[in-house]
Amino acid sequence: MTPAEMQFQTESSTEQKSQRPLVAIIGGGVSGAGVAYHLLKLAGNDAPDIVVFEPRPMLGRGLAYDTVDPAHRINVPAAKMSLQPDDVEEFQRWIEANNAVRDDPEAARENGQLFPRRRVFGDYVGSLLQPFLKSGAITHRRATVTAIRRRRDGWVISDDKGGLTEADIVAVATSHPPPVAPGRLAATLGDHPRFIADTTKPGALEVVRPQDRVLVIGNGLTGADVIASLARNGHEGPIVAISRRGLRSRGHAAAPQEPFGDFIADPASSAVALLRKIRLTIRQAAEQGLSWHAVIDQVRSQGHDLWRTLPVAERRRIVRHLRPYWDVHRFRIAPQVEAVLDAAIEARRLEVLAGSVADAKVEGETIHVMLQPRHAGERLERTFDAVVVTTGPAHGGILQTQPWLGELGREGYLVLDPTGLGLACSERSEAIGANGQVIPSLLISGPLARGTFGELMGLPQITEHTVFVAREIAEKLKEAATR
Ligand SMILES: Cc1cc2nc3c(=O)[nH]c(=O)nc-3n(C[C@H](O)[C@H](O)[C@H](O)COP(=O)(O)OP(=O)(O)OC[C@H]3O[C@@H](n4cnc5c(N)ncnc54)[C@H](O)[C@@H]3O)c2cc1C
Repeated sequence: MTPAEMQFQTESSTEQKSQRPLVAIIGGGVSGAGVAYHLLKLAGNDAPDIVVFEPRPMLGRGLAYDTVDPAHRINVPAAKMSLQPDDVEEFQRWIEANNAVRDDPEAARENGQLFPRRRVFGDYVGSLLQPFLKSGAITHRRATVTAIRRRRDGWVISDDKGGLTEADIVAVATSHPPPVAPGRLAATLGDHPRFIADTTKPGALEVVRPQDRVLVIGNGLTGADVIASLARNGHEGPIVAISRRGLRSRGHAAAPQEPFGDFIADPASSAVALLRKIRLTIRQAAEQGLSWHAVIDQVRSQGHDLWRTLPVAERRRIVRHLRPYWDVHRFRIAPQVEAVLDAAIEARRLEVLAGSVADAKVEGETIHVMLQPRHAGERLERTFDAVVVTTGPAHGGILQTQPWLGELGREGYLVLDPTGLGLACSERSEAIGANGQVIPSLLISGPLARGTFGELMGLPQITEHTVFVAREIAEKLKEAATR
């Protein structure tokens, strides 16, 4: 035992522990709150004590659904976002029953689909958890976890409110770390008043003035959100949005379609074979009057089985070469956001470029940026008043984003997944440690388990995974009780 561990044991020795096992869930977004909710439903009278660590005031929101920005909308129709895998329309019904979009006439599309503001989804998840919080079946510990140490078969968790919690099982559901600005850019622009490296911070965009020339680095959903938010805030200046391939997130099909194709009966065994199969299926779908959306939806819904059959080297190949294309087709933007972007492009206010930022320098408050276009030798020099980084969460560096994650890594309980998408875990979603050993009492819930489970970023896959992790935990508790 290290001196630090001995000290820790003494500090926590006065702590009380209830008779029931305790399951600690770190992170109270959909992935964490969903595990708590489904574990209670599955375990019934044998339910353990459940503590969810989450500094936000409400469980169920997490990063995506805690936003108060009215420009931020769900990017999947409400009828496909639910906390119940066997009742996908629950959220849609909840909206109708609670008249939850009464102040938002833009939420409904002509085809009947609803794309409410993201916060509304957080309200719905929170409402499902409320009875369990009231009854004490779930404890929301409004604190940030700062350390987790192994003790005998379990874990001791320290938090920033001075708490020590002994847990039998821990589920890590912290998912999205802050984005990381490209190193050289951060060094040059770090002190500039309109260099926005993390758009998830409340009010981050307020520093942008109406006529500012804005560079947006990253063209995915976060970039689209930023452009929609700027427009809503009255921004009228020119915007350049740059990403390596210049690909923009696509919109939704004009009318809802059922998923089309079959990718698991005879699964592809390589990245190239998978790509061929997707292209062929898109052609077959077109013959039946369906768009590519239906095919990508099927790849997504069969994503776990499909991913499992691929060797790690092929998974890596997909992440390296196909991911940007996958992301823009799979993460679609809400129609309302798409309309804002289209209007800005048409008005020549928004320019979408393929390339990278080669260099930047600051003169007063003016930012001179050298852009390297993807297929052209010549660099472009452009001048901006604000630079916004929208490259998305830095999952590949997850072990460096919080000290306790780094510590679990150094102690050999966590390692990065070989695809670089998150944390290594088993087919039971248990962490895999440095020596390849499975850590049965440490589970990973949500997007950080993507390396093993494949597509696991949005609903409904997140919901299915929370049920899966809850079931695993319930089984482990049952096994432990009969031992
Ligand atoms: C901006 C954005 C918009 C999205 N929009 C959609 C959408 O419209 N539809 C869709 O299907 N998917 C969407 N997604 C995908 C998203 O991954 C999932 O829908 C879902 O929100 C993921 O939730 P999560 O709980 O896994 O992660 P998160 O939302 O990241 O939640 C993790 C939680 O962990 C907490 N936490 C972190 N560290 C600690 C710590 N040390 N101690 C305690 N708590 C901690 C954080 O405060 C956070 O609340 C979006 C994702 C993002 C980033």
